[in-house]
Amino acid sequence: MRIKFWGVRGSTPAPQPENMRYGGNTSCVEVRIGEKIYIFDCGTGFRVLGNHLRREFNGKPMFAHVFVSHFHWDHIQGMPFFAPLYDGPDNRFAFHSSNRTSTIQRVMQEQMAPPYFPVGLRDMKARRDFYNLDEGRIQIDDLTLETKWLNHPQGCLGFRLETKEGIFVYATDNEPGSPVFDANVRKLAEGADVLIYDAQYLPEEYEARRRGWGHSHWREAIKVVMESGAKELVLYHHDPEHDDACIDGVVQEARNHFARVRAAAEGMEIVL
Ligand SMILES: [Zn+2]
Ligand SMILES: [Zn+2]
Repeated sequence: MRIKFWGVRGSTPAPQPENMRYGGNTSCVEVRIGEKIYIFDCGTGFRVLGNHLRREFNGKPMFAHVFVSHFHWDHIQGMPFFAPLYDGPDNRFAFHSSNRTSTIQRVMQEQMAPPYFPVGLRDMKARRDFYNLDEGRIQIDDLTLETKWLNHPQGCLGFRLETKEGIFVYATDNEPGSPVFDANVRKLAEGADVLIYDAQYLPEEYEARRRGWGHSHWREAIKVVMESGAKELVLYHHDPEHDDACIDGVVQEARNHFARVRAAAEGMEIVL
């Protein structure tokens, strides 16, 4: 299994020079298992991934599963800029998300509607299939995908991918402090090889003025990884106001509590 980070920021893109080591694009993570492609979230990093896939496939048809945790801007904004969606019906994408608040069809249509965007949905020629997800376990290819709801305004799905090569968990946009959701995230992360977890705020920022905004911080991330027995923690969904130096500081401090922690950075790869 190869995990690659294409967008690691939360809330809004933040491409200033002082952020460039970790990166300015919003949520998008690619997982490759053999030839199969699994993509988690379609933030602005999804555009960069699209260009990369287009070069790699070089006109040959491509297929990927795309899991969308929820429909906040930072998780969908790359969709209209994902080049392989325009390339013709030989490209096929299976989109998976919950229909609880809206559907991906509607989300795509609405964000490409006038007066927000110059190109209509009709220009997307690739074949798109849509699947509704709720909490539970399903089989995709020879993998098991487990989904659970996280604590976030309008909801957010966390994902656990169980494969022969290891267990990958993507749990972003989650606020601690609710017994049900705290249990959900620990259950998802149980024994995982890699846990990607929301660490948007500094603990002191969270306490002072970010309660109820639906995000977590590195101290909680450490608690989740230790209580769930996950093996490696990747801090994710960095705040747009946190520059490289700030994130370096967080990683350094977090390592005093748990050795195998790092911060997600654009272009970073993890191989299991
Ligand atoms: Zn987000
Ligand atoms: Zn969100």
